[in-house]
Order: sequence, then structure tokens, then C-alpha cells
Amino acid sequence: MVSKSMGHNADKKQVVTIGMDVLDCPVCFEPFKPPILQCSVGHFICSSCCNKLNKCPGCSRTSFERCFGMERIVESAVVPCIYAEHGCTNKITYFNKKSHEQACSYEPCFCPDSGCSFSGSMSMLWKHFTTKHMWPSTEFKYYTPFDVRVEPGAHFLRAGDGQLFVMNMVPVEPVGHGVSCYDMLNHVLFIFQLSYFIL
Ligand SMILES: [Zn+2]
Ligand SMILES: [Zn+2]
Ligand SMILES: [Zn+2]
Ligand SMILES: [Zn+2]
Repeated sequence: MVSKSMGHNADKKQVVTIGMDVLDCPVCFEPFKPPILQCSVGHFICSSCCNKLNKCPGCSRTSFERCFGMERIVESAVVPCIYAEHGCTNKITYFNKKSHEQACSYEPCFCPDSGCSFSGSMSMLWKHFTTKHMWPSTEFKYYTPFDVRVEPGAHFLRAGDGQLFVMNMVPVEPVGHGVSCYDMLNHVLFIFQLSYFIL
């Protein structure tokens, strides 16, 4: 007789509470990700620690096997992004959490006004800049020319993909203006110089 209970139902999901340290390597404390190894009595270790130590940190045994059962568990452990409350709806496997969050576009950014403690996603910040501070702002599309009033001070730019930039203009006599442009998501500063003629 063949038992049906051996079949796996990938859609069967339930929220459970577990001690997350079970999903971390006991040596490096990084989340387990395949390949995961176990010693002959079943202590788990990540592959990079296993390569470094060559013996089990729990019992000093030196023979290891790959543990597919544990790999299935870590591959099905799905967690929300830390920026879920800022709008990220991604569900990520626990071992991908750190790399996702480092690149997540919902990471809140802070208002550049030193007297203001507002933080939020790019779209919340844009609304905040334009309604709360009423800072000069322009929306633009990449690779499409657009006009910006050249005057000293900060000017906020929003690209078609929601990315925010702060442009800061300083007069540079006699040629025009020095302009710095700060990419608020990637924290990169560009500096360039504008020259113009007054007609
Ligand atoms: Zn490890
Ligand atoms: Zn062991
Ligand atoms: Zn995210
Ligand atoms: Zn503010």
C-alpha cells in the first residue's frame, strides 16, 4: 500500500512562531542557507563554517552529510521585509532578508531639514517636501530635457521612477552656478557646473 501522506502540498501554509536562532548557524550566527551540513548525530552547521572548522562544534565529529530536510525548512521560512510598514509587500526567505533589505527601495530616508525629524519612503518624503516645507520642486523624466529655475538654494527633483534628488545651487562668478546634486536613495553626491548667458 502506498501512503498518500508522503506527498508534499506546497500550498499548505500556516503562520508559526519559532525561535529564529534555530535558522542561524551556531558558529557564525548567519542565517542557514543551502547547502547545510550536519554531523553524524545531527548538529547543523553552515557550509562555510564546516569548511573552516572541519569538525563539529557541538561534538567534534568530523564526518558531515548534507541535510536536505533542514534546507527545505530554511527555504520555506518566509518573513516580511523590515520596511513593510513603509509599503514593501515583498515576502522574502529568511536567509535573503539582509540582502533584500540593503537594496529595498522602501527604506525610509530622512528629511534633510536639521530641525525636522520626518522620515519615510521616497513618495512620503516628496509629499512632505512639497506640502509641509513648500520647497521648490520639479518632476522630470530621465533623458527628457526639462527647465529648472536657476536660483541659489536647494531644489528638489523627482524622477519618473520616484527617485529623489536634491539640487543645491551656488553662484560661481562670473560663469554661472556651481550645482551639486544629491541622490537621496543611493546617497551619492554629484557636482557639476552650469554656464549660461543672459540674453
Ligand atoms: Zn556558519
Ligand atoms: Zn555534532
Ligand atoms: Zn523590502
Ligand atoms: Zn521635514
